[in-house]
Amino acid sequence: MSPDTHGGRAKCLQRLVRMEMPVPTTVALSFEAVHNIAAGDMPDLARLISPFEEGQILCVRPSSQDPDWGGPGAVLNIGMNAERHAHLSNTLGREAADELYFRFIQAYSVHVARLDPDMFDDIDPTDANAVNEALDAYEDEADEAFPQDPKEQLGGVLRSMARAWEGTSARLLRMAKGAPADAGLGLVVQAMVLGLGQGECGSGVLQLVDSVSGTPMIKGRYLSQSQGRDALEAGEKSLFLEKDDRGPSLEDQAPEAFSELIKHAEAMRVRLREEMQVEFTLENGGVHILDGVRVQRSARASVRIAVALAEDGVISRQEALLRVEPRALNELLHRQVDPDADRDVVGSGVAASPGAATGKIVFSAADAQASAARGEAAVLVRRETNPEDIRGMHAAVAVLTERGGITSHAAVIGRGMGLPCVVGASEIRFQARRKQLIAPDGRVFGEGDILTIDGSNGQVLAGQPPMLEAALDESFQKLMSWADENRDIDVRANADTPADALTARNFQAQGIGLCRTEHMFFEEDRLTAMREMIFADESDDRKAALERLLPIQREDFVDLFQIMQGRPVCIRLFDPPLHEFLPSDRTGLRDLAEALNLPLSTVERRVEALSEYNPMLGMRGVRLGIAVPEIYDMQARAIFEATIEASKDGDAVVPEIMIPLVSAKREVELVKTRIDAVAAAVRTEHSDAFEFKLGVMVETPRAALRAEEIAPNCHFFSFGTNDLTQMTYGLSRDDAGRFMSAYVQQGVYAEDPFHTLDTDGVGELVKLGAERGRKERPDLVLSVCGEHGGSPESIAFCRKVGMNYVSCSPFRVPVARLAAAQLAI
Ligand code: PEP
Ligand code: MG
Repeated sequence: MSPDTHGGRAKCLQRLVRMEMPVPTTVALSFEAVHNIAAGDMPDLARLISPFEEGQILCVRPSSQDPDWGGPGAVLNIGMNAERHAHLSNTLGREAADELYFRFIQAYSVHVARLDPDMFDDIDPTDANAVNEALDAYEDEADEAFPQDPKEQLGGVLRSMARAWEGTSARLLRMAKGAPADAGLGLVVQAMVLGLGQGECGSGVLQLVDSVSGTPMIKGRYLSQSQGRDALEAGEKSLFLEKDDRGPSLEDQAPEAFSELIKHAEAMRVRLREEMQVEFTLENGGVHILDGVRVQRSARASVRIAVALAEDGVISRQEALLRVEPRALNELLHRQVDPDADRDVVGSGVAASPGAATGKIVFSAADAQASAARGEAAVLVRRETNPEDIRGMHAAVAVLTERGGITSHAAVIGRGMGLPCVVGASEIRFQARRKQLIAPDGRVFGEGDILTIDGSNGQVLAGQPPMLEAALDESFQKLMSWADENRDIDVRANADTPADALTARNFQAQGIGLCRTEHMFFEEDRLTAMREMIFADESDDRKAALERLLPIQREDFVDLFQIMQGRPVCIRLFDPPLHEFLPSDRTGLRDLAEALNLPLSTVERRVEALSEYNPMLGMRGVRLGIAVPEIYDMQARAIFEATIEASKDGDAVVPEIMIPLVSAKREVELVKTRIDAVAAAVRTEHSDAFEFKLGVMVETPRAALRAEEIAPNCHFFSFGTNDLTQMTYGLSRDDAGRFMSAYVQQGVYAEDPFHTLDTDGVGELVKLGAERGRKERPDLVLSVCGEHGGSPESIAFCRKVGMNYVSCSPFRVPVARLAAAQLAI
């Protein structure tokens, strides 16, 4: 018997029987048998029930391959009829017999005869005449007497459960949970232990860990005179299991049964190599185990459980690694909405940066800063964000935007900062000027109203649901260290600031794979210096402005090198279009004119002159480096001077310098010549023989295609899959959010290619680039630093094409470490 032929429940029960647990007699029907039943081919029922005692009351439970795929509800008390009722009235008492018969009539009417469940509403089940009333009601509705033959009853139950599984809605429902279209259902026919009658009778469930935290503790409920999972629905009427100050417990009431149960649960954990929830029934004080199901668990519990099982020697460390879904780690790294909390959903968008936070709505970066200064948590709501919003993002607890996709500005910055972020929430109407949001259901939210942003699932919630804190506990650290022992591809972080670098180091990134230097200039004092540089008309003026920026950059790099303690740091030279650094609205322009002591009209004219029709394909990246070479000169000098400084008290730092947006060999030659010249000058000035590595981002299709001629001048290639996806598809990464869901829904794209690497198209270019680059230069270091670097599917691809490392947002480093380990196991 295997879960693939009879389902997980049947398999588990078979194992429990082999362990000599007190499991009632059980017969399992295979997927094939159940499929035949649905098609009208009933097995020989007399043979089926031959293992059971004469007159035995039975139940039937579903047994699908994966319990999460659901299935029809169990039907209990099959075999109850007038004769059994009379017999049980003598042995168990009238009340218990009535209850069993009444429950069965009800279940059979609803599940087998498909009668209206309301038909029993007027009957009081505790009334002495309830059974007769129920039988009459059945006869009225079904136009036949209630079936008395236990075989006929059983046949009816089996047929209805088999057919329910094959119905269209049930199929769609389980397919939505990942089941294949032809997933099978097994059925388990089991002798009932009644849970009703004399002595201590009842039912309950028990597990040895808490489902939310994964902490070892005895959890569950028990209810006297009950069946199935009644105890879980009984609320206060049910008992705790272990002695508890809050109320009576099973341990008080039936101490021997309690300790026997614990023993069984412990044995199950070891033999089934899993934390199990035990479903049990007591009959006259005796313990019966009806079932064992895998304990439901939150992500944090799944880590703790897997680690504890490995530490106890129940499973291997490698198996523990395989038992945790890498993406689920996101839930541990950030605060989350409590999974049991009620959610008042206002609307939803793209889940752009995981975690959840609650705050008052503000509509501008300045207001977010003002809120932070007052100590109030603010949710920054913007149509979209741009570099001017960075300070507001730092001050806010979460960000919500109307536009944008997974690689939009807000999303990238949000992920880097670990700031919960929902973007592209276009079903919510953003009325920025009126300072209000209008939900699809018409509710209006204004400035100061409380919202919760759940960046893990893309929902925007009204109010403040209860939260679970981040849990970077010992179990997490252990699991991560085991992951590192197993993986064969390195994981670095994309980190732009010292704060990012600290996060990266805390998550044990093996270096910085991408420092986007433009992000270092968003703080107010730096932004002004930057703008002065941009506004300089003459090369000399520009040089003077750059000289003011030089020490600032140098300090940044010294910080990064020191924080990373000798791990490699890859610094990308300036990439974005310059105009991104300029204000876009009137107030901003006026502030800038004031700061630069220039007439407003001059500032306006200059901003106008710098604007481009298509800035992402315009004067940015290496083009800027060649057209305005002083910028890269300054950055190279800052990197080299920082290298000397940071190497003073420790091992020599070997910086990696990366040129963005390359598409032609000559671009690399030109930049390389200048950088080599700066290096030579700094070496002479400081009498220091530092070394460095130069490489390029491969993020234009042409760079991938011409990799062979670009490689000779490079130590490394880092594939920028954000831009490469944008350019391969001809798809704007900032605007794709508008139609992406329509495209994915209609199957144009299987998934958002900015989210999951398109291995067929973009991947083909990456593969070509890697092969052609390595052909020319076998020691070429290869990596991916686009947002895809953190996704488990993309890491599998990167491993396949022989990459040395992936680099992703610091908060995704643990996910990447675990995913990489799973791939190597
Ligand atoms: C990329 O294009 O993949 C990349 C990493 O660079 P950026 O996102 O800064 O354009
Ligand atoms: Mg790029």
